[in-house]
Amino acid sequence: MSAITQKTVVVVGGSRGIGAEFVRQFAQKGNRVIAACRQPSQANEVQGLENVTLTQLDVSSPQSVEQWAGEVQKLASHFDYVINNAGIYGRRVGLSDVTYDDMLATFVTNCVGPLLVVQQLHKRGLLGGTSPSVVANVTSKVGSVEDNRSGGGYAYRSSKAALNIVNKSLSIDLAPDNVVCTLLHPGYVRTDMTGGAGLIDKQTSVAGLIGVLEDGAAGTRELQGTWHDYKREVVPW
Ligand code: NDP
Repeated sequence: MSAITQKTVVVVGGSRGIGAEFVRQFAQKGNRVIAACRQPSQANEVQGLENVTLTQLDVSSPQSVEQWAGEVQKLASHFDYVINNAGIYGRRVGLSDVTYDDMLATFVTNCVGPLLVVQQLHKRGLLGGTSPSVVANVTSKVGSVEDNRSGGGYAYRSSKAALNIVNKSLSIDLAPDNVVCTLLHPGYVRTDMTGGAGLIDKQTSVAGLIGVLEDGAAGTRELQGTWHDYKREVVPW
């Protein structure tokens, strides 16, 4: 393991939950953190932290992604880590009541948004080049085809499965530019998304996920195009 410190880190969806914990732990390790929040003025958990700059981003809007990329370009010329964490579960509905709008809204935020974020940062020359960058897309094991034994969850499962294949293509397309694209599964974490239910707290989850990235930095773990959980185990596709 090689400690991640003195790097420039972007955390997308940094206002609450797992994202806010990424912001806190990366800042505590002495990194410069740019937190992208839909409503920075409401992001109480990360306001006023040392080494943290708040920026405004709604990943469900292409205009917002483009405008945000222009803003962060003024803050740094290279990002070492991008934690693409923003996500929604959507309405908890089943086969009989899932709608077209449920499917689209979840797909836009969980899959299209993260792709556009990477596209914009790459287009502006903020990723890779002489120094490597790591893009970590925060997915869910719920999007694993092999792991699905209970059905349902149409919008969320499919949006994360789509994010997984987006990550795979990014990992191939961006490898020549010195950009590593990896997938992280946080575990079942007590946050607003789970209504406070879960098996672990966000501190444990994020410490494990940063450990995965630190293994990658040490060269002891292949991150390119692969998928890991907070226990540092490989997740089945
Ligand atoms: P929360 O609901 O607690 O937090 C979600 C975060 O995403 C908030 O910061 C929220 O911002 C942000 N976000 C949502 N939509 C947008 C948007 N359009 N633009 C910008 N930011 C947005 O969820 P978690 O912390 O639990 O989840 C974080 C990630 O981890 C998600 O991708 C989720 O799918 C994934 N995950 C979570 C698991 C869990 O058990 N908790 C398990 C597996 C994966 P705002 O405050 O503005 O709403």
